[in-house]
Amino acid sequence: MWIASFLLSFLFMEFAAWALHKYVMHGVLWWLHEDHHRVRKGYVYQKNDFFAIVFAIPSFFFILFGNIGNIPPLEGSGYGIMAYGFIYFLFHEVVIHRRWKFMDLNSWYFKAIKEAHRHHHQVNTKEGATNFGMLLPPLKYFKKHFAPGPIRKTKNA
Ligand SMILES: [Zn+2]
Ligand SMILES: [Zn+2]
Repeated sequence: MWIASFLLSFLFMEFAAWALHKYVMHGVLWWLHEDHHRVRKGYVYQKNDFFAIVFAIPSFFFILFGNIGNIPPLEGSGYGIMAYGFIYFLFHEVVIHRRWKFMDLNSWYFKAIKEAHRHHHQVNTKEGATNFGMLLPPLKYFKKHFAPGPIRKTKNA
């Protein structure tokens, strides 16, 4: 149950992040998200980072109460949200936006999500953007970049 709820909540988070991004961040909370759409080099803090806390809160309480009440599915979900947040941070802030330089991944999968997210950033307004998800962009990006075989280490994404 723990593992199943962990995996389900991880998957659900991709959907939740997509919905939040599309309908809330590019909606009523655009004022918190807009600075992420005009990122400048060396600009370390963004109002947009507030959304990390939004997801950290349920994660914290799910783990806390799942643990105290001995409810494995609740605890597993809390860790699923936490794992998604961690992956999102690594992929979006580090691999894609290079806000920190410690990890550079360029397999076909990362080429696909980088390009999908680059297209999201081509529109720097509240309306009209595409590709609101992160780990599962539209299939066309995978079709374009998919290359079976060992992970190739190339510089240009
Ligand atoms: Zn956006
Ligand atoms: Zn971005």
